[in-house]
Amino acid sequence: MQLQFVGCGDALGSGGRYNTCFHFTGAQVNFLIDCGASSLPALKAQGIARNDIDLILITHFHGDHFGGLPFLLLDAQFTRRSRPLVIAGPQGIEARLTQVMEALFENSSKTERKFDLSIVALNPEETREFGGVKVTPFPVVHGESGGPFLAYRVEAEGRVIGYSADTEWTETLIPVARDADLFIAEAYTYDRVVKNHLSLVTLEAHLPEIEPKRLVLTHMSDDMLARLDALDYTAASDGMIVEL
Ligand SMILES: [Zn+2]
Ligand SMILES: [Zn+2]
Repeated sequence: MQLQFVGCGDALGSGGRYNTCFHFTGAQVNFLIDCGASSLPALKAQGIARNDIDLILITHFHGDHFGGLPFLLLDAQFTRRSRPLVIAGPQGIEARLTQVMEALFENSSKTERKFDLSIVALNPEETREFGGVKVTPFPVVHGESGGPFLAYRVEAEGRVIGYSADTEWTETLIPVARDADLFIAEAYTYDRVVKNHLSLVTLEAHLPEIEPKRLVLTHMSDDMLARLDALDYTAASDGMIVEL
């Protein structure tokens, strides 16, 4: 299986990076995790066939993880997509998607589509399977409002991937990524502890409990991006490919 970091930026466009969007492809699977506001131009810039994507997993409803969906759905419409698409995310996703589509492109949520679109609400710690993709969501801590917020443990093509999503440290990140082949972890700041986000130093202190086989850092602020050359860890960059 292959992972391409279509976008690995934060909500503020730090470092000129695209919003969060990860693309996984394998013999049986083709899916995205998150689809931030800038994801359609990012997918196009990287030559990714949008209409081959079968599943989009959404971690939460912030614009830098969710805001690209209206553009992606519009693109699907205009390119005559016929392949069914599943979008799965936290409880309330159907209403939130309608709201954001109507806010950005009036009536777009009501347009008749030539493809089947299923919107699926996921419950924490309830495993679901979509095609060859097994998904277990875990609740994370990312603010008082705008939730629910989910991290994902995903199994596909015999590989396990954990993604922290945006969160401050929480014990649920241990089952998210324990012994995973790859842990994609937010490292928003280096050592400064801020509410709702993870610092690298905090993450580092918990790595012995998680023991991922590989770790890639994502969603970095300017503070972290300025330290990239001195880090002992692999940091994501837009377009970066990881073979799994
Ligand atoms: Zn974010
Ligand atoms: Zn967020």
